[in-house]
Amino acid sequence: MLTDQFNRIVDYLRVSVTERCNFRCLYCMPDKPLSWVPHEQILRYEELFLFVKAAIELGVKKVRITGGEPTVRGGLERFIKMIADFAPEVDLAMTTNGFLMADLAAKFKAAGLKRANISLDSLRRETAGKIANRDVLDRVIAGIEASIASGLEVKINCVPIKRMNEDELGAIVSWCLARGVTARFIEYMENSHANRHLHGLRKEEILAEIAKIHDFTPLESPAKSPAKYFAIKTGGEFGIIEPHSEEFCKTCNRVRLSAQGLLAPCLYFDEAMSVKEASRAGDTAKMVEILRSVLAGKREKNRWNHGEFKESDRAFYETGG
Ligand code: SAM
Ligand code: SF4
Repeated sequence: MLTDQFNRIVDYLRVSVTERCNFRCLYCMPDKPLSWVPHEQILRYEELFLFVKAAIELGVKKVRITGGEPTVRGGLERFIKMIADFAPEVDLAMTTNGFLMADLAAKFKAAGLKRANISLDSLRRETAGKIANRDVLDRVIAGIEASIASGLEVKINCVPIKRMNEDELGAIVSWCLARGVTARFIEYMENSHANRHLHGLRKEEILAEIAKIHDFTPLESPAKSPAKYFAIKTGGEFGIIEPHSEEFCKTCNRVRLSAQGLLAPCLYFDEAMSVKEASRAGDTAKMVEILRSVLAGKREKNRWNHGEFKESDRAFYETGG
């Protein structure tokens, strides 16, 4: 079993397979060039898998493939299959912007992927295009539909931003309900890589927007989920992920591996240790030693609130949101 110094059990690994992305979301990497990491610095699937395998053997029960945009890396179904064949019981999920999922969802499902969280920030073509800095809406919707049709369990992620998509939150909930999927609203996490003029909505503001259309009541939160869920009176639910709240860090069960082999213990802090050399040498014992010391240094809480607000310098496109 893996634990940190605050006795939190760490059983959830997020693996970023690339820092590249086909979008340039305002809250993530609006100004990055198309590709900036030399190919040889990125771990091969076999090298990433060696770490994933060790983590599963130490008690990791959930693996999420993320990015950057994971679907832009070729042959991803091969990586999915490696994990699924090794540990079919693991909850194997992916976070994606959905743009390429119309072509890939069935392939990923056949390889062993169980769930997909797909980002949908707006149902208006112009707003979606403004946020992603590309005309994306039709393909994202096609990707969501294909993912549902393929049998993947789908959730929708949306980052509510003032004067962008704030007036659509109730409509996004309705759109998801009509498709039998759950919408989750993620509070914007202030970071130094994002557009300087963004203001995100906090939980109470998100709830007030949704209340304009839907009646809902809070649900008991699942023990390890960072999301708080709400039951809609007419059926279905939606969730809010609130990194600015006290509880967010208390139940944190995650560790993150980047495509370059950096192991990061926290979503907020830009701290990490590299397992690249150990993985390239096939040295599992060394990787485990590094993993344990990363967890020993895992901080108690982020600084988005907790009385000392400071934006994060960590790049979300390196190890996912
Ligand atoms: N490219 C994929 C995607 O967009 O779904 C996966 C990587 S992305 C970094 C993972 C999640 O983080 C997405 O749901 C995205 O909306 C969210 N995200 C990125 N930057 C964020 C920020 N500054 N605040 C809140 N959520 C953010
Ligand atoms: Fe790409 Fe996802 Fe970042 Fe948007 S949030 S730029 S889709 S990695």
